[in-house]
Amino acid sequence: MLQRKKTRSITVRNIPVGGTAPIVIQSMSNVKTTDTEAVLAQIEALTNAGCSIVRLAVPDDSAVEAFRNIRKQTETPLVADIHFDYRLAIGAIEAGADKIRINPGNIGSEDRVNAVIDAARSAGIPIRIGVNSGSLEKQLLRKHGGPTPQALLESALNYISMFEKNNFTDVIVSIKASNVPTTIEACRLLAEYSDVPQHIGITESGTVRSGTIRSAVGIGTLLAEGIGDTLRVSLAGDPVNEIFVAKEILKSLGLMNGPTVIACPTCGRTEINVARLAAEVEELVADISDRIIIAVMGCVVNGPGEAKEADIGIAGGKHEGLIIVKGTPLRKVPEDRLLSELRKEIDILLAERR
Ligand code: SF4
Repeated sequence: MLQRKKTRSITVRNIPVGGTAPIVIQSMSNVKTTDTEAVLAQIEALTNAGCSIVRLAVPDDSAVEAFRNIRKQTETPLVADIHFDYRLAIGAIEAGADKIRINPGNIGSEDRVNAVIDAARSAGIPIRIGVNSGSLEKQLLRKHGGPTPQALLESALNYISMFEKNNFTDVIVSIKASNVPTTIEACRLLAEYSDVPQHIGITESGTVRSGTIRSAVGIGTLLAEGIGDTLRVSLAGDPVNEIFVAKEILKSLGLMNGPTVIACPTCGRTEINVARLAAEVEELVADISDRIIIAVMGCVVNGPGEAKEADIGIAGGKHEGLIIVKGTPLRKVPEDRLLSELRKEIDILLAERR
């Protein structure tokens, strides 16, 4: 089991983040916040997929009003994402935000940041301090010769102490860069210097294909070192994809329960369409929340042996499949009943465990 770094805890509506809480998956709506119906539909889709916290952009006064309206129509914790205008941050807090995300560097003078802190304190909500390589303070860029991990760390520590000077410790920090090694090193440094909970992710990570890999490397490395209390996988396109990727990253490190479907890479011995079958098995077990490894193997010669580490699996034969439990063949099933019989056996296995 991974040792997680000890951080202090914050609460976003009813979701604890940091401390001993499980790692929280979050995402961001990518439709206009003023399109209330579309935002609510996206919140529902994200929540159904396993997302616990949703962030909405609040770029102007009409978005503040939309935020107020949306807040009344869902129980999902909502974060207001604010850039530049401290009055929008205060407006979003009054509109019922469960957390706000600001980059103090673009909010303006310390007085303005303090006004936002006071409003959050009165509402009893936390603030995410977002430090981003693209908007680092000029003097830090000069001092460190660019957006280095040390520059990102210094920016984060300066803001944390600015907030603490104001007796506000209900914060979470994200340090994000689109460069993966820079992000990893900056988050490591922050974990060394502070016990603030960390929101981790790779910013502007890319399309579903490249962004998934960059996120898995960046987020996965940090999680494997015990760093990170909540995460967002940033992908261009439908944000629901972000949740599937986040869950796979967490499951692969044993940080989340749920089914893991593994499949053989196929070879010249393959007797069945492994790629299609594995995708169908993923659908078949999507409702299961128990930890279980299910293997889809392409042949009955090597499949059972190679699937030994899995709890259950199927190995393809000619127009049939072999159900395997912990590497031991159980019985043969005709191809058209493979999925239903596999599910039956999975349910039996899970019932025996309980
Ligand atoms: Fe090839 Fe069979 Fe191994 Fe799949 S399980 S890679 S089909 S030998």
